Amino acid sequence: MDKGIIKGDSSIKSYILDFFFPNRCPFCGGFIEYDLLCCEECFSEILWADEHICRKCGKPMRPECDCKEAHEYELCAAAAYYSGAAREGVYTLKFKNNLNGAAVFGRVLRDELRVMGVLDDIDIAVPVPMSPREMRIRGYNQAKELAEYITEGTDIPIRTDLIRRRFSKIAQHTLSTGERKENAKRIYYTELSGSPLSGMTVLLADDVLTTGSTLDACSALLYGLGAERVICAAAATV
Ligand SMILES: [Zn+2]
Ligand SMILES: [Zn+2]
Repeated sequence: MDKGIIKGDSSIKSYILDFFFPNRCPFCGGFIEYDLLCCEECFSEILWADEHICRKCGKPMRPECDCKEAHEYELCAAAAYYSGAAREGVYTLKFKNNLNGAAVFGRVLRDELRVMGVLDDIDIAVPVPMSPREMRIRGYNQAKELAEYITEGTDIPIRTDLIRRRFSKIAQHTLSTGERKENAKRIYYTELSGSPLSGMTVLLADDVLTTGSTLDACSALLYGLGAERVICAAAATV
């Protein structure tokens, strides 16, 4: 993996801010130089996704692709395996306001989408939404932050008005695969109608890919709005 990815903001502002809010590695929590996104040790230790990830379903191959199940989305890029430091990084992304992890995962995903030959095809990026209640508590959507970094330096717009999420007391990870599918179909919805995405290639971004039920439910909504292709990107894959 290219070490250039961990170079952050080297401006004077960033240097000065570091005195007040010391920069930390999103993967181990250790203090790092003001102009880095994470420490080199964590970056080297993370199992970055590579040819061992199936680019169709986004799951590890072990050793063959196990996507027996058909998914709604066409392709899925994943930045890292959900273990060790990457797992900590996803946790930091969700619960603490350290966005260095979003930057690292986002840049890795952008490179991956480029390698897959689809980056230039993307018309819009859509983060998997949070419910209004979760949004009030956390103050930001980590999937949107991820989308911001994936599309950094491109002119791909981010759309947060297409898919909505209802508040649900049931945590997806407590459900069986079948129940997850049903629950995801129930909690994600759109207020739009017609085919506003007609002919478009949509990038759908989320933090973790587990069974793919969330990405499937959101992809189905995007296809319902006329999207021609839905390509997913997840920071980590289980
Ligand atoms: Zn670290
Ligand atoms: Zn597969």
